[in-house]
Amino acid sequence: MTSIDLLIRTEPAAACTPDLAQGPWTFDAVPGYGPGSSMGDVIPVGSPRQGELPQAYRDASTEELHDRIRAAKAALGSRVVVLGHFYQRDEIVQHADFLGDSFQLANAAQTVPDAEAIVFCGVHFMAETADILAREGQSVILPNLAAGCSMADMADIDSVEECWAQLEALYGTAPDADGRVPVIPVTYMNSSAALKAFCGRHGGVVCTSSNAETVLEEAFARGQRVLFFPDQHLGRNTAKKMGVPTSRMPMWNPRTALGGSSADELLDAQVVLWHGFCSVHKRFSVDQIEKARAEHPGVRVIVHPECPMAVVDAADEAGSTDYIRKAVAAATEPTTFAIGTEINMVNRLAAEFPQHTIFCLDPVVCPCSTMYRIHPGYLAWVLEELVAGRVVNRIRVDEQVAADARVALDRMLALRPRGA
Ligand code: SF4
Repeated sequence: MTSIDLLIRTEPAAACTPDLAQGPWTFDAVPGYGPGSSMGDVIPVGSPRQGELPQAYRDASTEELHDRIRAAKAALGSRVVVLGHFYQRDEIVQHADFLGDSFQLANAAQTVPDAEAIVFCGVHFMAETADILAREGQSVILPNLAAGCSMADMADIDSVEECWAQLEALYGTAPDADGRVPVIPVTYMNSSAALKAFCGRHGGVVCTSSNAETVLEEAFARGQRVLFFPDQHLGRNTAKKMGVPTSRMPMWNPRTALGGSSADELLDAQVVLWHGFCSVHKRFSVDQIEKARAEHPGVRVIVHPECPMAVVDAADEAGSTDYIRKAVAAATEPTTFAIGTEINMVNRLAAEFPQHTIFCLDPVVCPCSTMYRIHPGYLAWVLEELVAGRVVNRIRVDEQVAADARVALDRMLALRPRGA
């Protein structure tokens, strides 16, 4: 079985690159995110690289790898917990003790305090968040260190600090007559620990795609405006839904004077949007929605808020992965769903809810490049190393960074989600 067979579970469809048919280890030495949706994105210098996966794991059949993973998990028992993100391939998800989005998984790990090792089958920022929330003595392991996130990498701490210095010079630091500070930083969960810590230090907060509206509401109560990073689309879609005109949401292009906007535009801004995006969700288009409606009258179109604004506006609904999952699960009558999110999750929903017709809006199989880097070969390797008493691929967040990041995460946790 080849890697692309692992990804395509429904009808054969065109893949965005033939490279998906190769094992992810083929790309371990190559600078880049690897095949999939973010293959064209620029990978930052210094991004973690995965060392060579031992040959035995590269040569093993999928069945052998599954047997080895099961045996290693059985030997480790409650000493290990395996977390699987919604966007992982089924071959990984079948070994996960918990399946969910990044924040659900970080919280799930805390329900297993006896586990010495948390194996996070997701991407780098997720493993960092799990490490920040882990208890002392727990190791968080990312099976493939090259599993970053191109969106998270679009906002690095140096360019955010540089932006902040320019905004402070423009806005000053004094609160207005209502006690609201000039600007509050808000980071999406999909960001490095360094950015979460930045928010912790500057009165800011973390948000997820489920609670972005609640977080922005609270930030607007404390601040005159928000600097939102790294995902422009989540920021724009959320603020627009709350009534903020798009004319008051200038974009910040890093490493340019005033982010490429004028001083007047920034002074009038309610949300300054960082120029980041997810290459998976950027692929969805209004044309795809129109085609789905033409071919499937009555189709229900649900997209993720990381999609561009025109796509969210054209869809019937927009919501987080958790929202999408719950919406499908709650449909009592057979329904046709066109979903705008990562292909592995859509295929899994289609298999799980056969009473519905469920398909991905994007006709091309193009998974998240970095989620794709987690293959059963790497999972078997890190688990067998644990059995042998060795911790490999540990993700550790500096203690001070973790403490500051926890402040921003705690601010988020103190907010009650809308409707709760
Ligand atoms: S789907 Fe997009 S945001 Fe999520 S890990 Fe992949 S690149 Fe990052």
